[in-house]
Amino acid sequence: MTPSPRPSRRERLLKRIRTEMDQECRAVAESLDPADRTGLAPFLERLTQSSTDLRERTAGALAPKIFSLCVQAPPELFHAAGIGHSRLACGSFATADTAPRHLPALACPMAKSMAGLLAMAGEAQDLSLVVPTTCDWMVKFPELAGFRETAPIHFMELPHLREGEAAARRWTGAVKELKTWVEKRTGRRIRPKALLSAVREFNRAAPSFERLLSLRRTQALPAAHFALIMNAFSLMDINAWHQALLDYMAGSRAPAETRPPVFLTGSPIVFPNYKMLDLIENAGMHIAGDDICTMERVFPGLTAPRDNSEYSLIKALADRHHRACTCPTFADNARRMNRLVAQVRQNKIRGVVFHVLKGCHPFDMEAGLAEERLKAEGIRFLKIETDYVKSDEQNIVTRLEAFGRSIAAGPETAAENRTIETALN
Ligand code: SF4
Repeated sequence: MTPSPRPSRRERLLKRIRTEMDQECRAVAESLDPADRTGLAPFLERLTQSSTDLRERTAGALAPKIFSLCVQAPPELFHAAGIGHSRLACGSFATADTAPRHLPALACPMAKSMAGLLAMAGEAQDLSLVVPTTCDWMVKFPELAGFRETAPIHFMELPHLREGEAAARRWTGAVKELKTWVEKRTGRRIRPKALLSAVREFNRAAPSFERLLSLRRTQALPAAHFALIMNAFSLMDINAWHQALLDYMAGSRAPAETRPPVFLTGSPIVFPNYKMLDLIENAGMHIAGDDICTMERVFPGLTAPRDNSEYSLIKALADRHHRACTCPTFADNARRMNRLVAQVRQNKIRGVVFHVLKGCHPFDMEAGLAEERLKAEGIRFLKIETDYVKSDEQNIVTRLEAFGRSIAAGPETAAENRTIETALN
């Protein structure tokens, strides 16, 4: 018998990375209370499988799917076209090892991990990709990840100024162009009836999402549960997601012990990287709310078209995704800060943890402004800058524990604020 050839260096590398990815996914599953695993199984399975799907997809094994890089592409459009839609995001630490060498040293870790995931299967360029032009990493992602200029990519050119009539018009135009592109890619016309039905299906899930938020506010929901449910939203059919959510909430969910509630903002949290969530909650705090684009912001709530015409439906989708969007890449962003303060006040939250992935410039630039504003409002603030690594965990825990103690001590005082201002001047 001829001995099988020795695996190449690349094959060995891919094997190692796949093993590590599986371990990362398993670690999330094992961190859950066994009593909760059944309710969370549909979300966990979909998220775990999505890595495999993408690997197989990039090897050409699955039917075409459209991936989008951001929450600003309305999922209702893809649903109305009857196609699987996935958000392309990656939280794996391991995949960064296959990211192209030409990526800058201080690249957004999420973009790097995504590029590594695509590179694992070699040429991935037949993927259909929707790229909303938010931050520079997203705009440059196709080029950095090695997509050819002729690849089926649609850039949603979204305005960086969002207030006012002109911005609203441009937003509507961008959603209309996306619809036309999806129709061309799929060869299927998206009729107003199908769009209306998609809008209604998403709207039907909105009250259940509100209930989930209330549970979260009353501390009946650990952060990892919420993250699993919301990360899976962008990978599942809306009706399957909604049913799984109802089943999850049908289990008794009594408020847990009362811990100091904090609000989480900043760079995305993507499965299986729940490091920040675990560290915050292990430091004795409860994450009662967030405005992260892979968590609470994934589902912007009810869409309200004026009538059933195509124009009204497109406009309502544009308005909904426009109004609810608090992406830091906007130039006129007073609304984001006001909303952050309002959410913290409404939910009687005592402190804000600002999560910045190293290389995530929009949130890094915004952190100082957020700190000034929140402290001026008497709200405690902590910025944590981190990467897709485990080595900084001890340091982060020490800072979080100190922050937890300061929150328990009460609101930020004017005297503390003055100390900071003096240090700044
Ligand atoms: S906003 Fe930050 S996390 Fe999101 S893609 Fe851009 S750099 Fe990465």
